Amino acid sequence: MPEQKESAPVVAIDGPSGAGKSTVSKTLATAIDAAYLDTGAMYRAATLAVLKAEVDPSQAAQVTKTVKNAKLEFGTSPDDPYSRVDGEDVSIDIRSEDVTKAVSAVAGNKAVRKQLIAEQQRLIAEAKKGIVVEGRDIIEVVAPDADVKVYLTADPEARAGRRAAELGVGAEETKADITRRDGADSKTTKPLEAPEGATVIDSTELPVVEVVAKILALLNNRDIDD
Ligand code: C5P
Repeated sequence: MPEQKESAPVVAIDGPSGAGKSTVSKTLATAIDAAYLDTGAMYRAATLAVLKAEVDPSQAAQVTKTVKNAKLEFGTSPDDPYSRVDGEDVSIDIRSEDVTKAVSAVAGNKAVRKQLIAEQQRLIAEAKKGIVVEGRDIIEVVAPDADVKVYLTADPEARAGRRAAELGVGAEETKADITRRDGADSKTTKPLEAPEGATVIDSTELPVVEVVAKILALLNNRDIDD
């Protein structure tokens, strides 16, 4: 129903790491007074649970069991998108190098994906004022009926530079990490391919406000088309 869509849009933003998804998604969610869901944080929290349990990320059965038994909770306010594992706030810990190194293996576990995708779809359905969802398989798998679908990308130098600024390390180190993670993630999702039906936005030369303005225009056009 158009009325419902207008008040509760689902905006799906996919793309590789360092493309600027998080900043853009949070800014957009705040601008339209919608919720925000960082699905990468969910895979990171699951990975932290695995590492804390001292389970080898490549041991599928043990990973499945550990993630199933962990209490994973996620905040969907763009002001405070917290991640909790067994009641503990892990919003900072999930950004650690250890988690970044292990996350692709855990995210490649079929049962873990099934569990987290179901939780993502529940959180999306629960967002009464709409939601901006960022990840790598949102358009094709998690929310194929999203009202606006964006594939956000940037050239590898720009992506490495952003990650380096976030982490405070040398750009070369992060470029190597990004390339490795893109490769590992490509076994499970398609971070380097624009999904069908997505509007491609290249953020290499665009400031965040301009990317957000482009997505707002897509949202507004959708309202007119409806
Ligand atoms: O976005 P971020 O870099 O925090 O994502 C961390 C990892 O989570 C990715 O490298 C990928 O392995 C996994 N991921 C995924 N599907 C998503 C979001 C993230 O497999 N929708």
